[in-house]
Amino acid sequence: MRIEHAFLFDLDGTLVDSVYQHVLAWKEALDAEGIELSIWRIHRKIGMSGGLFTNQLLRETGMAITDDTNERLRRLHLEAYRRLGAQIRPLPGASELLQWLKDAGILFAIATSGRMETAAVNIAALGIDPNAFPIITRDKVKYAKPDPDLFIAAAEALGVAIENSIVVGDSIWDMLAATRCKALGVGLLSGGYGREELKDAGAIRVYEDPADLLYHIDEVGGRR
Ligand SMILES: [Mg+2]
Repeated sequence: MRIEHAFLFDLDGTLVDSVYQHVLAWKEALDAEGIELSIWRIHRKIGMSGGLFTNQLLRETGMAITDDTNERLRRLHLEAYRRLGAQIRPLPGASELLQWLKDAGILFAIATSGRMETAAVNIAALGIDPNAFPIITRDKVKYAKPDPDLFIAAAEALGVAIENSIVVGDSIWDMLAATRCKALGVGLLSGGYGREELKDAGAIRVYEDPADLLYHIDEVGGRR
């Protein structure tokens, strides 16, 4: 009996080269609200849920962040990100990897902590038909990463058991979410996190970028 498996991809830093644009867009938004935070501290939080992001921010800056501030930050980030969006390119091998999976008849989906309003910019950069596979965004689940809801919803949309899914992501939040739902976590270095911290968060394998993953695809369930 063959057990159906699937690849569940994070988007930013995993398929598209957009992590630093997100960081700079958040920096702009925070500056506009008078919140001082170093760029590297923002980078460490990219990929986690926006709500947790601002909660951690509140802890680190000691500032009280109201719902109003939260909403303004979200809007300012979106505006800045759309402006920077023209620079965003797919990561090396991203389009080829998805095409390879499609040709091999292996199911895949995208699960991102971003909202559709920002994800749309990235998916456009990827140059693939967004109707050909499920895309689960922040808008569709109650909790984003490091909660596993996004990946569970993506596996459900494909009709594949989450335990038979391979979660591919660039951040420790992806790997923690994968561990929590008993999926296999595969880390990519293309978002700026290091090999050790991805492994500490549960990655069973770590590759450089989508091209490197495609090159080693037979190690992680890529048999035709
Ligand atoms: Mg990411």
